[in-house]
Amino acid sequence: MTILGPRSAAREHLIPHFTPESIWSEDQWPVLDRGDGAYVWTVDGERFLDGLSGLFCNNLGHGRTDLVEAMTTQAARLPFGPCWGMTHTAAIAAADAVTGFAPAGLDRVFFVSSGSEAVESAIKLARCFHVANDEPQRTTVIARRWAYHGTTLGALSATGIPKLRAPFEPLLRGVVHAANTREVDDPALAIEDAILAAGPETVSMVLAEPVQNGGGALVPPPGYWEELRAICDRHGVLLCADEVITGFGRIGASFASERFAARPDLMTFAKGVTSAYVPMGGVITTDALVDRITSSPMGSFLHGSTFGAHPIAAAVAVATIDALRREAIPERVREREPALRARLADLTAAHDCVGEVRGCGFFYAIELTQSRARGVALTPEQSGELLGGLLTRWIWEEHLLIRADDRGATMLVIAPPLTSDDAVLTELLDAVSRILDRVDAYVARLGS
Ligand code: PLP
Repeated sequence: MTILGPRSAAREHLIPHFTPESIWSEDQWPVLDRGDGAYVWTVDGERFLDGLSGLFCNNLGHGRTDLVEAMTTQAARLPFGPCWGMTHTAAIAAADAVTGFAPAGLDRVFFVSSGSEAVESAIKLARCFHVANDEPQRTTVIARRWAYHGTTLGALSATGIPKLRAPFEPLLRGVVHAANTREVDDPALAIEDAILAAGPETVSMVLAEPVQNGGGALVPPPGYWEELRAICDRHGVLLCADEVITGFGRIGASFASERFAARPDLMTFAKGVTSAYVPMGGVITTDALVDRITSSPMGSFLHGSTFGAHPIAAAVAVATIDALRREAIPERVREREPALRARLADLTAAHDCVGEVRGCGFFYAIELTQSRARGVALTPEQSGELLGGLLTRWIWEEHLLIRADDRGATMLVIAPPLTSDDAVLTELLDAVSRILDRVDAYVARLGS
């Protein structure tokens, strides 16, 4: 009998998510085995600093006995119960906790199991609302270019990343992609122009991340979300904030909508709601929107899934929100933000390959260029080489997990666990600094 190593064994039966064959076929990638706090260990016994919180989700770090206890207690008590024709005590407690943590006025929550499903649910909830209002023709969704809203076909229709969409065209009809906040001087006007071009009476909702990940942690300009609110009100359109990354403390507030004075009608979430200990997502909305649907001839929101409001996920959500409050996590992130930004500014000053650093809270993109001083961008060949494996190799050689991203720019993206202390943040940024040294050396070598 041949004994396979873990990577060969993985290749036998496992289809990885978004993993290029050039990486999967080699034997370099980490096989994670266990974690503690901000660190994970591979099967080879090597320790990595998790500078991306898994996928922007393991926000409280690994090894939390409070979250594990919530899981096991609930599993012993009631491991499953439907939220379909009935409900259970864990779902009621989670709904209370989630809406209590959300901005005022968002008092109802529909639970699902992922961010993509959350976005799909928001699209359907908005459409049911318009049907209830005798405006069934309002089906168009205005999203933004380079936005990532998930990969199931409905959510992918809202995603504005060309290479992710291309193989699956035609997607849902009636999604229009307008400029994001980086592409034009007046991005709110671009949204209104898109509504007007589509015909306002056909538009269902505007969908936008408060800080857009695709394109590189795009922080909205002052007043953007207030303007979106006014535009949506003017045209009878619903406003949905996709808080799948930004919710539950990531940007130094309970939700980014709180920080940017957004007043959305709908807010999608996933990832951090359970600190990723178990899958959960959902959409939070207003009493008025739900009441309008339930008092219409439809009589209910015509949508559901077996695992929506799963009791174990619900129990972990309650424990996660307890921890976020008890440990004042959003406040701690906000307190540490100036020091983190100062350190990122130092990294920029020390490296000519850093074009710009964007982001806030514990969520940043470091955009790479050939020379900031000379105003020279990376050539497509350089970007291709850096993103085709060089950056990832250098990241792993630092025993770091962060993302080398090609969506809208050539970037390194960092999003450490929200519980990271100064020592962890220093270790992270020291490693990033050494990676940037290598990028500087790489472009200098090519230029000479
Ligand atoms: N929306 C946003 C803003 C996201 O960042 C993501 C995932 O990263 C999703 C939706 C999709 O979430 P999931 O991967 O859980 O389906």
